[in-house]
Amino acid sequence: TMSNFQILQTCFALIFMMITSPFTSTMAAITLPPDLQDKIHTDPDAIKAASTDYGHIVTQTPAAVLYPSSSEDLKTLIGFSFNSSAPYTVAAKGRGHSVRGQAMAMNGVVVDMLSLSKNGSGIVIGGDKGSGFYADVGGEQLWIDVLNATLHKGLTPVSWTDYLYITVGGTLSNAGISGQTHLKGPQINNVYELDVVTGKGELVTCSKQQNSELFYAVLGGLGQFGIITRARIVLEPAKTRVKWFRMLYTDFNSFSEDQEKLISINESDPGKLSNFLEGQLLMDPNFVDDFYPPEDHPKIASLIKQFGIIYVLETGSYYNVGTKHSVDKKLHTLFKNLSFLPNIYSKDVTYLEFLNRVHGEELALRQKGLWDVPHPWLNLFIPKSGIKGFNNGVFRNILLKQNFTTSIVLVYPMYRNKWDDNMSAVIPNEEIFYTAGFLDASVNNWEAFDNKNKEILEFCDKAGIKVKQYLGHHDTKEEWINHFGSKWKTFQDRKNQFDPKMILSPGQRLFN
Ligand code: FAD
Repeated sequence: TMSNFQILQTCFALIFMMITSPFTSTMAAITLPPDLQDKIHTDPDAIKAASTDYGHIVTQTPAAVLYPSSSEDLKTLIGFSFNSSAPYTVAAKGRGHSVRGQAMAMNGVVVDMLSLSKNGSGIVIGGDKGSGFYADVGGEQLWIDVLNATLHKGLTPVSWTDYLYITVGGTLSNAGISGQTHLKGPQINNVYELDVVTGKGELVTCSKQQNSELFYAVLGGLGQFGIITRARIVLEPAKTRVKWFRMLYTDFNSFSEDQEKLISINESDPGKLSNFLEGQLLMDPNFVDDFYPPEDHPKIASLIKQFGIIYVLETGSYYNVGTKHSVDKKLHTLFKNLSFLPNIYSKDVTYLEFLNRVHGEELALRQKGLWDVPHPWLNLFIPKSGIKGFNNGVFRNILLKQNFTTSIVLVYPMYRNKWDDNMSAVIPNEEIFYTAGFLDASVNNWEAFDNKNKEILEFCDKAGIKVKQYLGHHDTKEEWINHFGSKWKTFQDRKNQFDPKMILSPGQRLFN
């Protein structure tokens, strides 16, 4: 018989084994690192939250969710998988604002990046006037928080997305584009340095000078090479206000020529009058938004009825209060050379209000229950040589003729030379290319929009318009290879180098 001491000893040994032995998730038979037991959750709420995204189209159930409190936890999680004979997949999830499961990990582990912000690297501003200012921000930080923190010091990042409640790591894994891209390049071009936990579980600092291969791989790298835990973001002094304009066109050619005029003036103009340039389509006479004064709504609606599509050029000019008069004068001269319909709609707002403009729309949609609904989005880059054909074949033919007139459609040009081709992001092979975003929301028939998107892609294919998807998803590896084109080999080599066991971001469906 055992003595009391022996019984106690056995109990301790059992408890010790329970604590230290790798534990198994109940959802799927994967073995997880014991050190992270407290931070890994497998309860239904955690699993459910990690199985869905903004798109509400794809559902993939992970085995577990990690709520990390430091990059050490990420090293442990990925390192354990890397060294295991049965590696599990790992997906960083920022805000989960992807639309096709890109931040999911079926039977793997989703990392809830936002939990790092409770304990993470936060936002630290450094540098000086001479060598330039920067912000060191955690990959989990939301751009709205980066903006607020930097504005506090009179500084600002230079390149944006339209919507700011998404993470730095999430947008840098894609590109990060908006109306500033023509002038400043995408967000990935405005980063000095990164800290990355690679697919081998190693924490590596990289920049153009140091571990440059990893730096270039990760930027636009769709989460394939490592998890960004810190990014050093380029800052500049912030102006306080923005003059925000919309001009209407009935003719696509004049619209796009004027857009290109504004971005080229910009290139050579040290005053950089058009800090922001985008464009959108008005196709629904029953919905004219409140940027336009109510008394003009009937007139705009009747223009839409008459012409089918009204093209809206949207531009913004940053200024400081004391310079208002001289900016007005310069803008007046600039606009004289454009050929919009005789009326300029404008607003004069704070810089913060301008950059955060989509948040108001979010709140309104949330109130109507229209935010958390399926989003069959399609985002494309279109070479300039194909943009007229795109207007005729897609905007006028597919959208108008099939009555997809309630879609939010953005379209605006940018320069290839503002991108860095060493980075993983893929863009068309022409000096100027356009982005077109079809940002649909559909409560009960997303498939119809998805079919329309497929039709758009088929049209481009047949018409020989060499578009590239942005934020895209591809069903087969062949489609991905085609997407990357001449960059595929490098992308694949880098994958073998930094994530040889194919652990990271399986939801992109690139290697898994
Ligand atoms: P998630 O969806 O969580 O993740 C995206 C991908 O990146 C996943 O593969 C994930 O595994 C990976 N990932 C996430 N965090 C990290 C990290 N720290 N390190 C490495 N990989 C990581 N994009 C634009 O460019 N311009 C726009 O104007 C724009 N507007 C948008 C407006 C709305 C309303 C929405 C919903 C999206 C918009 N987007 C825009 C798209 C957006 O930039 C991407 O969907 C981005 O991925 C969202 O960030 P996230 O934090 O939600 O990323």
